[in-house]
Amino acid sequence: MSKVYRTGEVEVVALRDVDLDIARGEFIVLLGPSGSGKSTLLNILGGLDAASSGQVMFGDHNLSAAGEAALTEYRRDHVGFVFQFYNLIPSLTVRENVALVTDIVQHPMPVDEAIDRVGLTPRRDHFPAQLSGGEQQRVAIARAIVKRPEVLLCDEPTGALDYQTGKLVLEVIAHVNEEIGTTAVVITHNAAIAGMADRVVYLGDGRIQRIVRNEHKIRPSELSW
Ligand code: ADP
Ligand code: MG
Repeated sequence: MSKVYRTGEVEVVALRDVDLDIARGEFIVLLGPSGSGKSTLLNILGGLDAASSGQVMFGDHNLSAAGEAALTEYRRDHVGFVFQFYNLIPSLTVRENVALVTDIVQHPMPVDEAIDRVGLTPRRDHFPAQLSGGEQQRVAIARAIVKRPEVLLCDEPTGALDYQTGKLVLEVIAHVNEEIGTTAVVITHNAAIAGMADRVVYLGDGRIQRIVRNEHKIRPSELSW
């Protein structure tokens, strides 16, 4: 699959001949310098953007042939997104922020279960402004997983957090992957994550440079918390 952005006369090749299979339940970390195409790849996997050529398949569904309505359905029913900024609604509590999603999906998990999975039960009646950055990001993860997505896509979820807080957020994502089997693709520069992934995919200049499989991945359940 390739992706070319055209703005007037200017062409930017964001992805070149990317060929990647991701297995159900896998935990993939995407690494690479700024501008290497990581976000472009994640957005195409999530149906937020479309490839310029080639094919993107989700199971038997050909996303590259899907129209806007089918992509909206794919995103709503199958994909959870987590971004660098938490995009929480400030006037709603933790519970209410997570509960909003459950109105538009078919088989959500109970809101309190989603909040429990990210370790925020004691804070569920608090407002975002009463939470730290790491806690707010965990609310965003709860909001992403409450719809039981098959795929969890995270674009620099630790980008605004210090190293230790970022590590905790990544451990929460690794837990979700391990316990509910959600396929996870995570872009992060936090070095703590590499050992938790099944495979680390290195992008450079829009190409996959190498893929490293962790033979002895650290299971989040082995971690101390
Ligand atoms: P990364 O996430 O690895 O930093 P991106 O996927 O955001 O990289 O960008 C890859 C390349 O594509 C960069 O050169 C970027 O400038 C370009 N690009 C990304 N989005 C657009 C867009 N909407 N229009 C034009 N160029 C874009
Ligand atoms: Mg990016």
